Amino acid sequence: ASPALELDDLSVAYTVRGRDLPVLANVSLTIARGEAYGLVGESGSGKSTVALALQRVLPANGRICGGYARVAGKDVAELGAAELRRMRAKDVAMVFQDPGKALNPSLTVGRQMAEVFEILGSSGSEARKRGEEMLGRVRISDPARVMASFPHQLSGGMQQRVVIAMALAKDPALLILDEPTTGLDATIEAEVLDLVDTLRQEFGAAVLFISHNLAAVASLCNRVGVLYAGKLVEEGPARELFSDPRHPYTAGLLRCLPRAGFKGGAALDNIPGFPPPPGSITSGCVFAPRCGLVQDRCRIDEPPLYEVGNGRGSRCHFHDRVDDLPRMSEAPPV
Ligand code: ATP
Ligand code: MG
Repeated sequence: ASPALELDDLSVAYTVRGRDLPVLANVSLTIARGEAYGLVGESGSGKSTVALALQRVLPANGRICGGYARVAGKDVAELGAAELRRMRAKDVAMVFQDPGKALNPSLTVGRQMAEVFEILGSSGSEARKRGEEMLGRVRISDPARVMASFPHQLSGGMQQRVVIAMALAKDPALLILDEPTTGLDATIEAEVLDLVDTLRQEFGAAVLFISHNLAAVASLCNRVGVLYAGKLVEEGPARELFSDPRHPYTAGLLRCLPRAGFKGGAALDNIPGFPPPPGSITSGCVFAPRCGLVQDRCRIDEPPLYEVGNGRGSRCHFHDRVDDLPRMSEAPPV
């Protein structure tokens, strides 16, 4: 079967006051069915843009300006209106940060769950029954009570479970989670992540997990991509990428984490300096202005995605010298 998701040199630009701002440049990645892929990077690096572009739901001023996105083997740029509707109703499901926004405040959970199944072709009473079953599958112990509740009567964690149940009702090829646990407390967060992991195995859906939280990514994902200013600067199996980063940016992110390792939601914003505004760096490496390993060459030659072994890639000319980076306070975790 074709992979759940293939991005091939995907580039996206937003037009602002007549100017094209490139926000994603040549992003390539593949997510096999049943695999969980983590996309990490600072705020503004383009993570949500990836999720929107592959569903063709970019804001009006955004457009795919190069490359391909294929969902379950189909090039999304070539889908007609009916196929596009089908893809959004069936092949891809997305869970956002705020479950309150995904749920309709004026309808009971039962009505909303039933609606999902009605759209998928079940009749009224059948749809209700399937809705209740689905809540059971996301480990809600008293589905009947939850079905009768309005969203505001449920905790944030419970609301997010309902949203996940609605997403999985489609039995999608690809489940996208964009910061799904931001705003939930740590215990609930752990429960939700554990649930996603179990459901991934049960449903066989591929997961694209977008997060600032490296700890969460490490626990949930088998592969990871690191976005920096719209470029995928490093990619590879989660375990190896986190224990032996081959890009100075990834190494910097890991060194920002508390010594205890991946405990707690570590912030990614402790690397000195700021990411460049979209489109401001036109030659060389986008990370050069903040990089501890920078050489003259880095400001001139843009690094290709070097193969650095075992399905790993790094966009750094000096990927074999990352260990020489000046040490910050603590050793990287793992
Ligand atoms: P966060 O972690 O804060 O959610 P992100 O990695 O998801 O960030 P995106 O939302 O994809 O980042 O944004 C990528 C870049 O595109 C940012 O510089 C952002 O300001 C810019 N951007 C996003 N939407 C638009 C838009 N509609 N018009 C112009 N620029 C935009
Ligand atoms: Mg985002």
